Amino acid sequence: MADPKDWFTAGLEHIWLPYAQMRTLPAPVAIARTEGSRLYLADGRELVDGVGSWWTSIHGYNRPELLDAARDQMAKMPHIMLGGLAHEPAYRLATRLAEITPGDLSRVFFTESGSVAVEVAMKIAIQYFRNTAGVTRTKFVSFLGGYHGDTLATMSVCDPDEGMHHMFRGALAEQYVVALPETRDQIRALETLLSTDKKIAAVMIEPLIQGAGGMRMHSPQVLKTLRRLCDQAGVLLIFDEIFTGFGRTGEMFAAARAGVTPDIMCLGKAITGGITPLAATLASSKVYAAFHSENPDHALMHGPTYTGHALACAVANAGLDLFADGSLIKRVKKLEASLTSALAPAKDMDSVVDVRVLGAVAAVELADPFPIEAARKWFIDEGTFIRPLGRTVYLSPAYGISDDDLARLTGAILKFAKTGI
Ligand code: PLP
Repeated sequence: MADPKDWFTAGLEHIWLPYAQMRTLPAPVAIARTEGSRLYLADGRELVDGVGSWWTSIHGYNRPELLDAARDQMAKMPHIMLGGLAHEPAYRLATRLAEITPGDLSRVFFTESGSVAVEVAMKIAIQYFRNTAGVTRTKFVSFLGGYHGDTLATMSVCDPDEGMHHMFRGALAEQYVVALPETRDQIRALETLLSTDKKIAAVMIEPLIQGAGGMRMHSPQVLKTLRRLCDQAGVLLIFDEIFTGFGRTGEMFAAARAGVTPDIMCLGKAITGGITPLAATLASSKVYAAFHSENPDHALMHGPTYTGHALACAVANAGLDLFADGSLIKRVKKLEASLTSALAPAKDMDSVVDVRVLGAVAAVELADPFPIEAARKWFIDEGTFIRPLGRTVYLSPAYGISDDDLARLTGAILKFAKTGI
């Protein structure tokens, strides 16, 4: 690798980093290469990665099967537009996603980021009611603690008080962001809302785990309640499985783990194991039927340049092959048990208010706030890459992480919870 001084110092004057106050941001650590669950730093140090590149790297870095699929596809045809032309990787991937997702989610629309997959889900829901009943339903119900992306429409369905979305108030459509229906009063309030406002098109939720909101977990019963309330009110149910999809919860999809099928589902992140950007929005046969007519105005009005990117779809197909024999899902269930027992001591610590584990996700929520940037540096000094969300320290490791590497991650979290920075 070129000396980091050649690119890092110069680039830092020009690159604009995400979610970052560039003036006070501590310099990011320069990475030389990756392998499995390890990040090799330009300065020679080595970290165990507990984050998996924003939750995408479920197969570990540089997984040969994925790299080979990328190389083969690159040699044949990196990409060709889907307007008027067809290629095998996208068509094959659509067929396979329709097969492995629950219920009759049978139509797949490809995009290139999770936020856009959610935007497409919202557009599908709005147009569904136009096409079927000629009515205008443009409102959405989503949940406190939720996160669905950074574009204007997706920010409108995020928790309005968390993160940075409040800064864009005024530019965002007013939506209903309400409490999860966990208590009888909350269920009744949601039922009333859905039956009262006939402008509501859909309810949107991250099923089982609200990721960016702090790895908050809810019971499958919440999703069953939502399914019942949506059916009762004639409103669509959207599952944003951009984080929870592809085995993260211990089943291929959180919908399967909960036994609830949505009308529309969004996938992204781990779909390519983090190798290339790709996302997908799936619609049930019922929803798709509203678009399938002789009327050109009933067509879905969306078309990203890179929809169904061939290279990305080829990698995603190779990623699905890795799930084929069922061993990966078994591995996630084993990880759930390992994480649960390794983090159990945190439950008895005064500094900890909650320990949550589901599939390959573990979260330890601390009682007191701590300086995030200092905490990030502390974890790096412990040989780990762990990035807390608010007061919650979490892990979303690659499914094949070794026992030793997992022990380093959980050990660092226990030490952090006990001693602080
Ligand atoms: N939805 C959920 C549940 C997410 O976790 C994220 C990203 O963290 C998104 C949507 C947005 O995805 P992207 O960052 O690929 O636009």
